[in-house]
Amino acid sequence: MKSERFQHRHIGINAEEEKIMLAKIGVKSLDELIDQTIPQNIRLQSGLNLPEALSEHEYAEEMALMASKNRICASYIGMGWYDTVCPAPIFRNVFENPVWYTSYTPYQAEISQGRLEALMNFQTMVSELTGLPLSNCSLLDEATAGAEAAAMMHALRSRDQVKNGANKLFVDKNIFPQTLAVINTRAVPQGIEVVVGDYKVFDINSEFFGAIIQYPNSNGSVEDYTAFTQKVHAAGCKVAVATDLMALTLLVPPGEWGADIAFGSSQRFGIPMFYGGPSAGFFATKEENKRNVPGRIIGVSKDAYGKSAYRMALQTREQHIKREKATSNICTAQALLATMAGFYAVYHGPKGLKEIAKRIHSATALIADELKELGYTVLNEQYFDTLKIGLASGVSQYSLREYAEMRDINLRYYEGGEVGVSIDETITEYKAHELLAVFSLAAGRMEVFMIDDLPEKLTIKDEFLRKSEYLQHEVFNSYHTETELMRYIKRLDRKDISLAHSMISLGSCTMKLNAASELLPLSLGGFQNIHPFAPQSQTQGYNELIEELGEYLKEITGFAGVSFQPNSGAAGEYAGLMTIRKYQESIGQGHRNIILIPASAHGTNPASAIQAGYETVTIDCDAHGNVVLEDLQAKADLHKDNLAGCMITYPSTHGIFEKEIKEMCKVVHEKGGQVYMDGANMNAQVGLTNPGFIGADVCHLNLHKTFAIPHGGGGPGEGPICVAEHLIPFLPHHPELDGSTVNTVASAPFGSAGILPITYGYIRMLGAEGLTHATKIAILNANYLAECFKDTYGVVYRGTSGRVGHELILECRKVKDTSGITESDIAKRLMDYGYHAPTLSFPVHGTLMIEPTESESLAELNRFVDTMNQIWEEIREVENGTYTKEDNVLVNAPHPEYEVCADEWKHAYPRSKAAYPLQFVKDNKFWINVARVDNAFGDRNLITCLCDMG
Ligand SMILES: *Cc1c(COP(=O)(O)O)cnc(C)c1O
Repeated sequence: MKSERFQHRHIGINAEEEKIMLAKIGVKSLDELIDQTIPQNIRLQSGLNLPEALSEHEYAEEMALMASKNRICASYIGMGWYDTVCPAPIFRNVFENPVWYTSYTPYQAEISQGRLEALMNFQTMVSELTGLPLSNCSLLDEATAGAEAAAMMHALRSRDQVKNGANKLFVDKNIFPQTLAVINTRAVPQGIEVVVGDYKVFDINSEFFGAIIQYPNSNGSVEDYTAFTQKVHAAGCKVAVATDLMALTLLVPPGEWGADIAFGSSQRFGIPMFYGGPSAGFFATKEENKRNVPGRIIGVSKDAYGKSAYRMALQTREQHIKREKATSNICTAQALLATMAGFYAVYHGPKGLKEIAKRIHSATALIADELKELGYTVLNEQYFDTLKIGLASGVSQYSLREYAEMRDINLRYYEGGEVGVSIDETITEYKAHELLAVFSLAAGRMEVFMIDDLPEKLTIKDEFLRKSEYLQHEVFNSYHTETELMRYIKRLDRKDISLAHSMISLGSCTMKLNAASELLPLSLGGFQNIHPFAPQSQTQGYNELIEELGEYLKEITGFAGVSFQPNSGAAGEYAGLMTIRKYQESIGQGHRNIILIPASAHGTNPASAIQAGYETVTIDCDAHGNVVLEDLQAKADLHKDNLAGCMITYPSTHGIFEKEIKEMCKVVHEKGGQVYMDGANMNAQVGLTNPGFIGADVCHLNLHKTFAIPHGGGGPGEGPICVAEHLIPFLPHHPELDGSTVNTVASAPFGSAGILPITYGYIRMLGAEGLTHATKIAILNANYLAECFKDTYGVVYRGTSGRVGHELILECRKVKDTSGITESDIAKRLMDYGYHAPTLSFPVHGTLMIEPTESESLAELNRFVDTMNQIWEEIREVENGTYTKEDNVLVNAPHPEYEVCADEWKHAYPRSKAAYPLQFVKDNKFWINVARVDNAFGDRNLITCLCDMG
């Protein structure tokens, strides 16, 4: 007998339920439904060639083995990643808690107050530590944050600078090499010329618009940039600074010496190194730049009764809303990791953080002194935690490295022969002793002295020492015991709807099961405690994982090459387009600059194309939501000399498998263009068709949609790109991996490598058959719901044979005409039933897009149908005048606990109707704690930091 199959745990529908659903839809078999849904000419003839499925237990064993092939060494490499102590209550109650990791981006503020508050804590912490009042709630990593800073300074050029064509950006040479590489990749297509030099001798002129420096710099030196900043400002330019939050607990923050932007990584606030990611990038700036800040910003507003409430601010700024006018490349960010970093600050508080920083600095100072004793030179005048060390006479980097690696110690090795040491909060007397022993042995000293204390030592000059207070708000001074922190985390997570509560049917977002078995390996030290620049000989486990997973994804997409570097779908789009760009340059077609994009495309498509330096041309869609082939042909022909390519989502963002997809690819190819497939809807393709077979040249995958990585409340994500053979040479490189900076798009060579075990597990445990069955059931579930809603709301688009793909768009515009009730009212009313709204007003205004995924059971689908039907009845009551347009359960939704429990009740309908509209709600009531949040008020009265709340 075979052991139990994971498939039956992941997929929500069993064989009997399948029959019931097929009968309702009116087809005889699942295959008949699939045949009706997916065009015959793109159906794969053979199944996926993947290893046999493992049971959950077998997978656990395999991953333990794989993790053990990564050698955990003491890391002193630094360069943006540091060993950390993730407080256990944060790891267990946040990182390993499905309420936190399976929730969605907090667009629906009323059921997201917990994560919104946690992200507000993060923003406050970043703002106060950097000394800049406006922070976003995370970016993908430090290097892309640097690129966003460059783009923002470029967008903020004065009228004169624009007129004079000021296009130069100064970057100090002592910035992390990967940050410089990404800034370069991103700057070039924007027409920005990056000038690398020494800030001390830099002579600014009117051709510049901005400058980027690092503090403490890449070598660990703390330098005074006040005069430099004044000089740059005097020339009408802006200054952005890469910085380190831990150092800023001791150092004068950039905001106090005049910087316009501070950015960096918050990884060392309790996030494991994870071989490069995930961890949260941060970005803070002055209030006056608020309209240009990349990424998401949490703000405070008030609800319908005036109670203060959190919500996302200034959303019209966001990339996917601005489309071709966007100046950033951010959709999914790093919410879960920002949440954790925020809790780290909450748990330690200002005093605790300062103590940690002092310990780090004291140990560094002690090591510096001892090294000097041993004959080494410390090249930094002022430092926080990082030393650049000149070797003692007679010591070679090679022999030092041998001694170090023998003792499982990793140092930074400079090309010039020096070595670097970065100390972190895991330093102990024993570790300091081991580290010094390496330097001692290499210098030929045989005596092994003991370090039995790390005495407090402060070598930083007074002028660099921070005098201002930070994190004085109550939240950073209340939860310093585990009991208090645990309860605070619980108080917040009770306010949020996640997959732990009910189906989240967000179309295009694929909120499927994130199985515990897939996630458990992330808790293994062998995956957590690996520096991305550790020698390859120590990372065999990761190498194997990345190699094998790459093979699987190539098989699934029908492509020949893969890069794991992009950290989100939008970053994948960007990387894919840059790959096309470099390829076309290589064949003498670098002038091609037009990208065709259907009107129905997700906003990241045009935004990424513009960021990659292309011009976009919109292709019309017809009344059925399909691309108008003639329009594509005409526009491809019109631009044939300059056509770079076409971006297309498949099945379309309308959830339809367009019949003419092969023809569309052919048209683009005939005119010399490349086809980019947005793979966000890959959940409808896996095992049945694939982008390579359809005829695309490159696609990205949202591993955080199709391949089981959880959404984390808005990240982490992973957006690998898969490409056809001819594009392989132009995939992203990385300076620390292969010495090349071509198309580097992220801080780490493999992006967020730490979450790849989730996708690997998803594929390994489902196997070819399970993956294919999952796709079929995803399509079955969507068609079942389409059948259930066809006579009420109605389904906006269907394929030629009447079927929808893996999602469906629910018509709500007619409802509005007859009752005044909007799709937004329906979304808010769903909360009273304990449901998260489907995707609102995308890709069509006045609609809701539902994607049930394969993981939901028939019972849950039916509960959702009952709910929507009950809401339909509630709409009728408004239509027929039972309740007025001004006072009904829909426009007043959601009904918070404080309103329902109040002594006074002013509505025309009873409390029970507001709170317990169906029996199942009574049995499992999700209590909301704010009424409908007023978005416009919050944008008019922008508050993004707890310190501004009084
Ligand atoms: C989610 C999505 C994206 C963007 O992906 P991120 O990971 O959020 O950057 C792009 N296109 C489509 C169709 C999507 O659904």
